Amino acid sequence: EVLNKIIDTKGSIRVFCRVRPFLVTERRPIREPVSFGPDNVVVRSAGTRKEFEFDKVFHQSATQEDVFGEVKPILRSALDGHNVCVLAYGQTGTGKTFTMDGTIEQPGLAPRAIKELFNEASTDHTYSVTFTMSMLEIYMGNLKDLLSARPSLKSYETSAKCNLNIQVDSKGSVEIEGLTEVEVPDFTKARWWYNKGRRGRSTSWTNVNETSSRSHCLTRITIFRRGDAVGSKTEVSKLWMIDLGGSERLLKTGAIGQTMDEGRAINLSLSALGDVIAALRRKKGHVPYRNSKLTQILKDSLGTKSKVLMLVHISPRDVDVGETICSLSFTKRAR
Ligand code: ADP
Ligand code: MG
Repeated sequence: EVLNKIIDTKGSIRVFCRVRPFLVTERRPIREPVSFGPDNVVVRSAGTRKEFEFDKVFHQSATQEDVFGEVKPILRSALDGHNVCVLAYGQTGTGKTFTMDGTIEQPGLAPRAIKELFNEASTDHTYSVTFTMSMLEIYMGNLKDLLSARPSLKSYETSAKCNLNIQVDSKGSVEIEGLTEVEVPDFTKARWWYNKGRRGRSTSWTNVNETSSRSHCLTRITIFRRGDAVGSKTEVSKLWMIDLGGSERLLKTGAIGQTMDEGRAINLSLSALGDVIAALRRKKGHVPYRNSKLTQILKDSLGTKSKVLMLVHISPRDVDVGETICSLSFTKRAR
């Protein structure tokens, strides 16, 4: 058991859990359904008790700095040439976007990570390091380029930039044909592009104004590292930061029509992601990347040579206990 744990935490896939605090508008129950240890979460509901283990648990009081502190080492791996994937998973409203983007006062992982990359690069005297950025959204199996200069069209069906092809080259590196890739010379410029990409998310897909919970938003920083000696090769690695679509199940929400289809698309791609991670953790056998656009795109970044960090977000509320158990179980399989 102990040994297992050591192997787990040293492995290339780590799973953290973060619970969001109660919002000012929410009533705190007398007996809170979710309680915590340093690396476990206990959920009590209707007389049952379920316990889940994680590599790390962030309580309600954890700050954005605390979370970033645990993610920082993985950035070093990205700079050292590994492909890295940081994914925010969970039910809508549990804090995925708060963790990834944060607010002006409390910036999240993405802005902190980008800043850190520039800091690290500027102190590296043996290599010259440069970065590019791309952002895309996956919505019902379609890919949308979020940094495209073209004005977004009202409906995604009519926009060419929404059906980018995924290609895998002879070295196994995944490329998305035609995806905008901008050079980011410094943090200010990178943040500007990032904010532009985030603003372009979802509202222009259809007339439905809140689709962000039913799409995945992916940010890719590509790192080019070249030794200063003449003739030295450029090493390329990728850092993915991903705000996944809401993991809530459909039946309870009473979704119909469009919403139902969107939810189904998200559920299918999240379960495809779960299958890939489960296969990787078993460390043998076939890894089923082909089952969703999400896993096809991440094929070269969700593998044995890459580092994966899954941040599972849960709600502290009584009414969400069912979804909380589902989210925690999703990663039980992933661990
Ligand atoms: P999601 O992206 O998973 O749907 P959000 O990030 O939009 O969820 O979070 C829902 C609400 O909860 C937002 O108002 C957000 O500011 C707040 N929130 C989430 N996590 C935290 C946290 N750790 N601390 C303070 N507020 C949070
Ligand atoms: Mg969100």
